[in-house]
Amino acid sequence: MKLNEEQRMVRDSVRDFLENEIEPELPEADREPLTKAEAIDYMQTMAEIDVGPYSQGGFDDPVTSTIIREEVARVWPSLQVTMGMSMAVEMMDIFSEQTRSAYATERENDELVGCFAITEPAGGSDTKVPNTTAVKEGDEYVINGEKTWVSNAPIADLALVVAWDDEEDRRDMFLVDQKTAPFETTHLEKLGWKGSPTGQMFFDDCRIPEDNKLSRAVMSALSDGRMDPEDSFLGSVTAGSNPLNTMFASMRNGMAAISVGIMQAAYEAALEYATDREVFDKPIGQHQLIQEKLYTIRAGLETSRLLTRHTAERIADGDPETRMLSSLSKGWVCEKSVEVTNEALQIYGGNGLSKEYPLERYYRDARTMTIPDGTTEIQKLVVGYELTDMQAYT
Ligand SMILES: Cc1cc2nc3c(=O)[nH]c(=O)nc-3n(C[C@H](O)[C@H](O)[C@H](O)COP(=O)(O)OP(=O)(O)OC[C@H]3O[C@@H](n4cnc5c(N)ncnc54)[C@H](O)[C@@H]3O)c2cc1C
Repeated sequence: MKLNEEQRMVRDSVRDFLENEIEPELPEADREPLTKAEAIDYMQTMAEIDVGPYSQGGFDDPVTSTIIREEVARVWPSLQVTMGMSMAVEMMDIFSEQTRSAYATERENDELVGCFAITEPAGGSDTKVPNTTAVKEGDEYVINGEKTWVSNAPIADLALVVAWDDEEDRRDMFLVDQKTAPFETTHLEKLGWKGSPTGQMFFDDCRIPEDNKLSRAVMSALSDGRMDPEDSFLGSVTAGSNPLNTMFASMRNGMAAISVGIMQAAYEAALEYATDREVFDKPIGQHQLIQEKLYTIRAGLETSRLLTRHTAERIADGDPETRMLSSLSKGWVCEKSVEVTNEALQIYGGNGLSKEYPLERYYRDARTMTIPDGTTEIQKLVVGYELTDMQAYT
């Protein structure tokens, strides 16, 4: 798929910026989860990139967003995760006056971090009926429950929380903020995405204004003009019959784009090493089995990039197969990135396992991709359901 001139310009600006401003600090920056101050600093640095109308949140134009995510992840997937999971900040304008005024200064200074809390300890992949509850009391909702494995949780000001709406008897999303309705968090250690903080969240009688319920917030923001019905992100989320599924489609193809970025980095590193490293009196790239690995790596990269960009185009067109394609793309591409980074690491021999080289990080980051935003198994079941109209799980 050929990029147009504008897309090439965006890709080149993001690539130059990342290589000059972010890459020199790696891998040191990736060994510990970002603190809140570091995350804000990096996000403010990223905001300096001149990519015209394309915001880092990435919902303005799915194809260009895909290209941006690839480029950021080519250098540092953890940074893309930290920025991408802050979507609650971008949505803040539609929520209650109370929350907006509590964070007016931080908003003005771009000093806010968000998170998106769906997963629960008991539910895991099964997110249909959350145990976290939102009970209406007067003009407030009282949130109680527990979430786990939430990216950005330990550093988030704003949490978009999926909870069971007791009154409506269905799930909805609620904005809970750390300042006016404090929640507790812990850190979780993990294999990859080391720079991205992940944690558990505990909501104990967190009282939030009724206008912090997403479905209600959208209605009132539309009626008083705070939300433009043409707004591509919120418009697309609220247009679908199942807002969570619509949101997942963008996020899942976004995860595929991160995997493509990791594969691109691994491919470049593997090719360079195969050309430079000499064993048995010739570059290892001249040995047939290493050439086969390069074939596997390049084929995985090319096919994954095509599928991800094709899916982004179909999302942009509002294609009815969006849900199926985004799950196909997330499942297939993220698994492919594990295979590709594994082969690239092997080309480096012992150095592939060394922290002095980036291959072990590419592999750990790729391995992490197959679980968040729905495991590969769940993506297969979504595709199966969309293709057959028969559900393997309820
Ligand atoms: C690094 C990281 C970041 C994350 N970020 C977030 C975040 O920001 N927000 C958030 O809400 N969550 C986040 N998650 C949570 C993630 O979405 C869940 O881990 C994931 O959905 C799987 O849930 P689980 O870990 O409880 O596994 P389980 O649901 O317990 O699954 C265990 C295994 O069983 C398989 N399985 C489950 N059901 C079926 C089935 N019906 N058929 C076949 N196999 C099945 C799974 O595929 C998996 O292999 C993150 C997770 C990680 C690791």
